[in-house]
Amino acid sequence: MSSAARVAAIQLIARKSPLAAEASSKNVPELFGANVFGLEQMRTRLPEGAYESLESCMQRGQQMNAELADVVANEMKQWALERGATHFTHWFQPMTGATAEKHDSFVGFEDGRLLMEFSGKALVKGEPDASSFPSGGLRATFEARGYTAWDPTSPAFIRETRSGATLCIPTAFCSWTGEALDEKTPLLRSAEALNRAALKVLRALGDERTGHVYPTLGCEQEYFLVDRDLYVLRPDLVATGRTLFGAKPPKGQELEDHYFGAIPRRVLAFMEDVEQELWKLGVPVKTRHNEVAPSQYELAPIFERSTVASDHNMLTMEVLKQVAQRHGFQCLMHEKPYAGINGSGKHNNWALSTDTGENLLEPGRSPEQNMRFIVMLAAVLRGVDLHADVLRASIAHAGNDHRLGANEAPPAILSVYLGEQLTEVMEGLIHGTGGSSRTGDTMKLGVTTMPDLPRDATDRNRTSPFAFTGNKFEFRAVGSSQAPSKPMTVLNTIVAESLEFLADELGKRKDKGLEEAVNEVVVDVFRRHQRVVFNGNGYSEEWQAEAQRRGLPNVPNAVDALCCFGERKNVELFDRMQVLSPRESESRMNIQFEAYCKAIAIEAQSALSMARTMILPAAQKTQRDVAESLTAAQAHGLATERQAERLRDLSGAIEACVGCIEELAGAFERAEAHQGPEYEHAKCYRDTVLPAMDRLREQADRLETLTDDSYWPLPKYRELLFLQ
Ligand code: ADP
Ligand code: MG
Repeated sequence: MSSAARVAAIQLIARKSPLAAEASSKNVPELFGANVFGLEQMRTRLPEGAYESLESCMQRGQQMNAELADVVANEMKQWALERGATHFTHWFQPMTGATAEKHDSFVGFEDGRLLMEFSGKALVKGEPDASSFPSGGLRATFEARGYTAWDPTSPAFIRETRSGATLCIPTAFCSWTGEALDEKTPLLRSAEALNRAALKVLRALGDERTGHVYPTLGCEQEYFLVDRDLYVLRPDLVATGRTLFGAKPPKGQELEDHYFGAIPRRVLAFMEDVEQELWKLGVPVKTRHNEVAPSQYELAPIFERSTVASDHNMLTMEVLKQVAQRHGFQCLMHEKPYAGINGSGKHNNWALSTDTGENLLEPGRSPEQNMRFIVMLAAVLRGVDLHADVLRASIAHAGNDHRLGANEAPPAILSVYLGEQLTEVMEGLIHGTGGSSRTGDTMKLGVTTMPDLPRDATDRNRTSPFAFTGNKFEFRAVGSSQAPSKPMTVLNTIVAESLEFLADELGKRKDKGLEEAVNEVVVDVFRRHQRVVFNGNGYSEEWQAEAQRRGLPNVPNAVDALCCFGERKNVELFDRMQVLSPRESESRMNIQFEAYCKAIAIEAQSALSMARTMILPAAQKTQRDVAESLTAAQAHGLATERQAERLRDLSGAIEACVGCIEELAGAFERAEAHQGPEYEHAKCYRDTVLPAMDRLREQADRLETLTDDSYWPLPKYRELLFLQ
């Protein structure tokens, strides 16, 4: 690659214009769900009895019998064929953090005659050759096959391309011994645990009506766009998703002129295309805007049942990436594509819904509703305080380490923001003085109602990793590239465990009146766990000290955070809540240590090859030019000490860079050869390879500022960030 390629790419950008969207219609009601085989399609297409049976299977989480599966499969196939589908695939989430699919066509033969077939068996169960997916030791090679099983709570859908269409069936992925090999199964189990526990509490509070409680999720997705012609000239972006080099540009995000600014036209066309595509897939996309950093954007959907929302977020990330390419962009989902400006997160908005249409985290109008709300609040606070370590670990990976605690994203300390008023309510209950001093009322559980809580977005604290925002919690520490299933599984589980605890405590006080029992239990929980509440500035140094005083864990990096998945108390927690067996917990931890090592190893090798084959040669060509011109100047008696100094400067920087390359190469070799247990291996990458990469970057970025621009092959930050 030469700098000529860089110049050509830059020149091309000026000539690019917005692209028309792919969808043939702009009529949203017509588009929405057009490619989904949802409840509506099933109701109209399936014979009456069949639909009812399917519905009851879905509600009870039961397997379908073979007959019913055949009926459903046949209707699904007809529907898919009408939409031009030629293939079907089970669509699942192995423990790679991405989705996986293996396509089969409907083609089959009967008596030598071609027919399009899709059996009930093929619908409910698939057997992908699973031996190459990470299993963290769950699957010995002799039992390499796992199977995928349709999760009928998440509807089948069709993915279209220009040249064809594929029917996708969302599935869970298990080994033959029944162990979960994916992220979806634990998520489903955790939602079930939450349902069981929440119902116990509701019953204890005298609610006999609610039949089902389920977590809801709305994922705000942040991402960067970079012009694709520039992207392909950056081997680091291609291989690792982030820039490993790049000198600070003259302009970054300091003018704050990008956030909520007018959306560039080419980008807007891309967004419109994405939205139409997602609407067809039944993803309820709602919001789009520019984010804080240059070339950073956000998309947010309306919340849904967390299992469906999690599938939809995986689809959203896929669609963003695919549509970006069509529009000549690359969509960067990495938590920190560029140093020195904001990274990307994925706020997970989470609440609890009932089948009667209520949100259990909504402070209600009646005293009973408020009592319920306070109990739920107590459960969440207790869960986050007791299990801050696993919640922290659920968002721990190499990419998120660049973002957490970096004064732009929530700190690695997991505190809860409640806002002033709700904190006053909590304190009032603890001290027995009742409610909020602002309103002058005193609040008594079960008797009076809650003061109106502010729901204004401007009133929110953006520095908190876990914030109450009026009728939901917002888990902000989740990384942009992450599948939401893991953090949601953990959150569901720890809250379920707390709800079980509260239900038991209420049960012990049956002889007391309900209000007194609730008051006693809630006050005790608030007293023990109020230390996790923090409404101040999470970025401040004082908070670090204060959190330490309060005994809150502060684990700044992924490697240490991940260890807690192996601790007995946590293994037991997931086991007791029937979310992960001890073996499943252990396998997940190992997979993540491995993923960490691999991520850093790929970065180190990309950095080495770029430094050796792109950065040094460009700098050395400049060195040669400067040396030659110095000699020429000397011949004319024009050379000055300053000019000689410049050559020495450049040569010194080259020398330093060569030294750093050797150092990184050595560190990488030792890390690669490391034989210790997974944790030690990951630690070795963290403590030796990462710092060596940082030092190399510093020298290489210095060379960027000294090297002749016409030799520099890598698109620079000013180009990556501002040309679109
Ligand atoms: P912001 O937090 O940026 O001010 P909003 O308040 O509009 O934005 O909400 C952000 C996200 O929270 C949206 O995806 C929205 O659907 C989701 N959300 C709202 N209510 C709930 C809920 N009860 N459960 C889960 N997510 C919710
Ligand atoms: Mg938000």
